Amino acid sequence: MDAVWECQAVPQPSEPAGTGSATTAGAAHRLAPGAARQHTVRDHNLGLVLGKVVDAPTPVSRADIAAATGLTRSTVSSLVEVLVAADLVAEVGPERRAGGGAGRPGIGLVASRRRVAGLGLELNVDYVAACVLDLAGEVRHRTVVPRDLRGTSPARAVAGLARMAVSAVDAAEAEGLTVAGAAVALPGLVHAPDGMLRLAPNLGWRDVDVLGLLSREPSLEAMAVRGALVVDNEANLAALGELDDARGRAEVEGSRYTFLYVSGEIGVGAGIVIDGSIFRGGHGWGGEIGHLPVDPDGPPCRCGSRGCLEQYAGREAVLRAAELSSLPELVEAATDGRERVLGALTDAGRALGIAVASVVNVVDVSTVVLGGLYAELAEWLVPAVEAEIGGRVLAQAWAPVTIRVCSLGGDAAILGAAGSVVRSVVQQPAYLLRA
Ligand SMILES: [Zn+2]
Repeated sequence: MDAVWECQAVPQPSEPAGTGSATTAGAAHRLAPGAARQHTVRDHNLGLVLGKVVDAPTPVSRADIAAATGLTRSTVSSLVEVLVAADLVAEVGPERRAGGGAGRPGIGLVASRRRVAGLGLELNVDYVAACVLDLAGEVRHRTVVPRDLRGTSPARAVAGLARMAVSAVDAAEAEGLTVAGAAVALPGLVHAPDGMLRLAPNLGWRDVDVLGLLSREPSLEAMAVRGALVVDNEANLAALGELDDARGRAEVEGSRYTFLYVSGEIGVGAGIVIDGSIFRGGHGWGGEIGHLPVDPDGPPCRCGSRGCLEQYAGREAVLRAAELSSLPELVEAATDGRERVLGALTDAGRALGIAVASVVNVVDVSTVVLGGLYAELAEWLVPAVEAEIGGRVLAQAWAPVTIRVCSLGGDAAILGAAGSVVRSVVQQPAYLLRA
């Protein structure tokens, strides 16, 4: 998913060129070649303008967009007119410009919250979740249901997620929103092109056709048919959630943000983001940090190997070492300074640090973001993680690793999933306008 703000404006041809060809799917292929080219360029520029509105932290003017894109004022005005008519962009103001100088106050443009939304879904080892995000990035609906799915058949578990998805779509439609699509976060090796969950060790699932099972629900089937229902690894989508959040914080430029997102739940996963894009590896199966060996002779892992990180820093391993049964108990006992619990967290942090340092040495990232369980336990984990990184990362003296705590909590994956749908609408609003 390339960042829209990296796109360049394409001058709109004033007349059909006669030799152009359509490069996008949809209705364009039915037009004469020249008109098709004009259509394609206009579609591209519609996305560019919408992206400038959506990504701006405050209302932007048409003149701001023209200056930022290189498009002419009249082209921007005509594109904005289309986006306002489609209720993807809303006008606010008039507002006085900063400094209160002379001249007509500008009308500000913001993302409309009334027309379109993205649906994020998550099926994890012991919970299912859904959220609806509108074009302005506001959460309009959220459901998280604890449900231990170990021992549940894939068909039954996915049917439960499908029902949750339908409820979320109904809730969005009740507010007048069209759900443009859905992205599903799954724990394990996900093959996105055919919608298959190849392996989820903690669920004991292999080769589950998640997309096919979800498509048994007619409304989701309609989404799947138009390519708007996709599946991905939960840590990858959580990393996209962190990326969106970073853009909102404006602490880092989204297109430059390079980081390792480590997601701790029962399983441990990672998303590697290089210059604002997920690094997926050859099949989309990269980032399985939970199965990096911490001790080759360690305890057996659900994956069939031994001594994997999950056996030291997965939620159940940490609770077992602390002799407790729930995360709230763990946090409370750690806050009270119980020695056994602090020791268990230090051991988990050490294992996590060993694995993280290995990844940092291989992929050269200078920011590590702790998410899920690790965000809640950061206070007790980070010292040991830092100590391991300090002793093991070769480049530490020149590019010291910063550890951040993800502020999205357990919602990072559903927010990233829903945000990825919203982002695809922003990149190609023309598809929605033709629907
Ligand atoms: Zn393993």
